[in-house]
Amino acid sequence: MKGSSSSKTRGLLIILSGPSGVGKGTVRRLVMADKSLNLHYSISMTTREPRNREADGVDYFFVSKEEFEEHIKNNDFLEYASFVNNYYGTPKHYVDSLLEEGKNVFLEIEVQGAMKAMKLYHGVGVTSIFLVPPSLEELEARIRHRRSEADEIIQERLNKARGEMGMKYHYDYCVLNDSVQRAADEIKTIIKSSLKKLKNKSCEK
Ligand code: 5GP
Repeated sequence: MKGSSSSKTRGLLIILSGPSGVGKGTVRRLVMADKSLNLHYSISMTTREPRNREADGVDYFFVSKEEFEEHIKNNDFLEYASFVNNYYGTPKHYVDSLLEEGKNVFLEIEVQGAMKAMKLYHGVGVTSIFLVPPSLEELEARIRHRRSEADEIIQERLNKARGEMGMKYHYDYCVLNDSVQRAADEIKTIIKSSLKKLKNKSCEK
C-alpha cells in the first residue's frame, strides 16, 4: 500500500570527505549538534597513534596493526583504506544496523574509502559531500599549525591533500569551508533535502 508505515524508512548514509586539515571534524561537530537530523557518528578504527586530546572510543578506536588485520580477515569493515602508513576502517555491523533502524549515519572518511562506500550504498540512500579549503596555502598553514606530527608525515599529508582535491568531482556536493558555521549550515541544508528525497522515494514503493 502506498504510504504504508509497515516498513520503516531506511536511514541516510552521509559521507564527508576532504583533505587533511580542511576542518572536517569541526564542521562535523556543528552539524551533529542539530539533533533534529537524527545523526549518528560512526567511530572508525585506526592504527595511528592518538593525538594530544584524542580519546579511545570517542575520536577513534585505536588498535594495533595486528588487530586491524584480524578485522579485515573477518570482513568486519564496510570499507577500509591505508592513509599515510596507517589503516582506517568503518565498522560494517554498527553502520548497517543503525541504517536499518532508520537512523542517519555520518561517516568522515578519506577518498578511497568514500568511493567504496558510495558504490556499496548506491541507490539505497547515500549523500556524499566534499569539503574544500579556501586555498591550498591555507590548508598547508592549518596542517603545519597542528604541529602534532613529524615534518615527514606533514609533507606526506600535504602531498596526499593535493591528490585528494582532484577527487572532489566524484561527490554529490562540494562545500567550501570559508567559515565553519556557514559550511555546517550548508551541509545541514543538503542533509535535509536528501532526507526529503529519501522519504519521497520510500513512499513511491
Ligand atoms: P586523521 O589521521 O587526520 O584523523 O585521518 C586521516 C584521514 O583518514 C582523514 O581524511 C579521515 O577522514 C580519514 N578516515 C578516518 N576514519 C576513516 C575510515 O574509517 N575510513 C577511511 N577510509 N578513512 C577514514
